[in-house]
Amino acid sequence: MNKVFLKANRDKSLKQRHPWVYSGAVARVEGQVENGETVEVYSHSGEPLALAAISPGSQLALRVWSFEVNKAVDQKFFDDALAAAYDLRQTLNIPRHTTAWRLCSSEGDNLPGVTVDVYNNYAVLQLTSAGAEFNKDLIINSLKKLQNWAAIYERSDAAVRKYEKLAPRSGLICGKLPEDLLEINEDGRKLYVDIVNGHKSGFYCDQRESRTAVQKFAQGKSVLNLFSYTGGFGVAAALGGAKHVINVDTSAPALAMAAKNFALNDIAPEKYENIEADGFSFLRKCRGERRKFDLIILDPPKLVDSMRNMAKGCRAYKDAMLQAFHLLDKGGMLFTFSCSGLVTRELFAKIAADAANDAHCDARIVADLGQGSDHAISTAFPEARYLKGLLIVRCN
Ligand code: SAH
Repeated sequence: MNKVFLKANRDKSLKQRHPWVYSGAVARVEGQVENGETVEVYSHSGEPLALAAISPGSQLALRVWSFEVNKAVDQKFFDDALAAAYDLRQTLNIPRHTTAWRLCSSEGDNLPGVTVDVYNNYAVLQLTSAGAEFNKDLIINSLKKLQNWAAIYERSDAAVRKYEKLAPRSGLICGKLPEDLLEINEDGRKLYVDIVNGHKSGFYCDQRESRTAVQKFAQGKSVLNLFSYTGGFGVAAALGGAKHVINVDTSAPALAMAAKNFALNDIAPEKYENIEADGFSFLRKCRGERRKFDLIILDPPKLVDSMRNMAKGCRAYKDAMLQAFHLLDKGGMLFTFSCSGLVTRELFAKIAADAANDAHCDARIVADLGQGSDHAISTAFPEARYLKGLLIVRCN
């Protein structure tokens, strides 16, 4: 195995079992390495630290597979790691609540770059690191051993692959795709998922618990569901007894699917509207028309995707929340989310505070929300907590 030596005093994070090493911490690489191959990582003084996948040319040079340096990164390694991920979801009773869940959550499950989402009996695999790509066949073999899948489908089409010098790739790995859309069940909500053409792996199963929270509070309310995608939050609100739901998204196919999802749950057509519009403009328009809602959901796409975009993205989060506060009366509820990993919970709460202040809104954060427990967070890798949510009530 090729060896990588770190610079002096750059071994601290690995000793705390954090799985990433940036290129700036690498002193030298011995041998000719291939993109994604497994290397032995040593401290400056030659102490063995980890086995990691190397991504030459990427800023994120090393991603750790194992801190047990005597282990091999072989079929058994992936069998054990994926089985552990699978077992955790059984321990968490996830399949009892839903047929749509995350089986493997990349660094959260000690498998950097490997994400697997399950929809009924279909597994959707996403590989985003050179190391995951290098070991693709082993990973697929391990996945096949977990369950008798109807199909395994690959959705390795995330933009981040380019940083690892990997081309996007999607397609059937084994089995047969369903003839029609997949119908999943999430805490009793029926929803269609399109694993071939949908966003990410087809569906945002990370918001399951927050959708259930919305359902609990929706009785009798007028609901504005911004950045609705296929209407998951809207269906939850309607099933929770909402008076009326408006879903807003810029994607026409997502809204067409939202209409199907409302029909699938037998929600009367007069109870909802699907509007193709920019979420930020729609908020302003509602304010101009002095419209009010009882419950608003803001679940925008990742608005901060790099440190360079931090200020701009935070302004956009603030703007959306400021407008939303104006559309709420006393007792109105705002479910506001950020899926930007770089925006911490504390920063997001500060943005909410600034927005409330500018809107002259006396606001209470009554609950912290976030990704479901199947989107595991390793204690050594708190960055895995990318999804932050706040339930805020207007009190004046
Ligand atoms: N809340 C959804 C997930 C939202 S993902 C759910 O529960 O499934 C973010 C969504 O925002 C995507 O559907 C995307 O099409 C939409 N979007 C992106 N930019 C937008 C904009 N400017 N205005 C409205 N929708 C937008």
